[in-house]
Amino acid sequence: MTAPAQISLTRTQNPAVKPADASLSFGKVLTDHMFIMNYTEGKGWHDPRVVPYAPLSMDPATSVLHYGQAVFDGLKAYRGADGAIRLFRARRHAERLNKSCRALCIPELDPELVRQSFEAIVAADHDWVPHAPGTSLYIRPTVIATDVMLGVHPAHSYIYFVICSPVGAYYKEGVKPVRILATDNHVRAVQGGLGEAKTAANYAASLSAQQEAERAGYTQVLWLDGVERKWIDEVGTMNIMMQIGDEVITPPLAGTILDGVTRNSILTLLRDWGVNVSERRVSIDEVMQAGRDGTLKEMWGTGTAAVVSPVGQLGYKGEVISIGNGQTGALTQKLYDAIVGIQYGRAEDKHGWMSEV
Ligand code: PMP
Repeated sequence: MTAPAQISLTRTQNPAVKPADASLSFGKVLTDHMFIMNYTEGKGWHDPRVVPYAPLSMDPATSVLHYGQAVFDGLKAYRGADGAIRLFRARRHAERLNKSCRALCIPELDPELVRQSFEAIVAADHDWVPHAPGTSLYIRPTVIATDVMLGVHPAHSYIYFVICSPVGAYYKEGVKPVRILATDNHVRAVQGGLGEAKTAANYAASLSAQQEAERAGYTQVLWLDGVERKWIDEVGTMNIMMQIGDEVITPPLAGTILDGVTRNSILTLLRDWGVNVSERRVSIDEVMQAGRDGTLKEMWGTGTAAVVSPVGQLGYKGEVISIGNGQTGALTQKLYDAIVGIQYGRAEDKHGWMSEV
């Protein structure tokens, strides 16, 4: 770890033409600058700098390309109605990046410097934060191993970089429910594995199940545990929550799921509102039964990209249950409105989640 250091800035001489807010989707357009910092053994993390966005040049034997020693995170900057640009829970994202580093034997970063890197890159590219309602600037901090050598071992050199992408509104016509498929022939993570780290391997491991779900007409995979294949873990790249009777349930942070920042924020709001919340194991059988007997009132995924993603239909072993008549539930909508209100500076930020750039 190093103490927060001076971050140097080299501005681009060739700023790109920005796309219209209405044309934005997710992750396709990158901004003019990137943050970068190096790790060298003996020297630690050094030379934090904002530079013009450019390709990284890599030897084909660079270790990350072969053994996947890579972690990342994802957060957003929002332009409020007052014009101010704010980050949502930047410090928590910085700490989670560090946690992922620890899981992959990557030398830790100073979370304060990571938080500053988010501010520095957004300040440099502030005119890339879109204005239209629901739009934002997605921030992608990443660490990769850069040793040039074939051989499985923790690397001795790394790059930390942050890139940004202006993104369109996730819901252009209001919050919309999706169909999800619980799979018991693929697993995403196991106890003692990498499930709670945000690392490239977890996303590679998810692809074939996701493809299978899409071919069967579903949007996302509902992941079950890797041992008994009955306990619910996550949905796609989101955490999962459901309301059965008057209890809101979400699987506990027990090593196989990501400690979602949206999950944590929503649990905080639910507890503020006096809702009966349990972080407990919930089986697919319990949920299917609740769906059949009408006690499964709402189900939704939580994540930075969508905030909430209501589940309208759930498929498992050839049976499909419909949740809330396929409509967005009142609690799901209330949570969406509350979080988005805070993010765009329209609602009171009681918990100090926003930081102005
Ligand atoms: N689980 C996984 C596997 C994810 O990739 C994400 C997205 N980062 C989440 C959950 C939700 O996390 P967050 O609310 O921090 O975006």
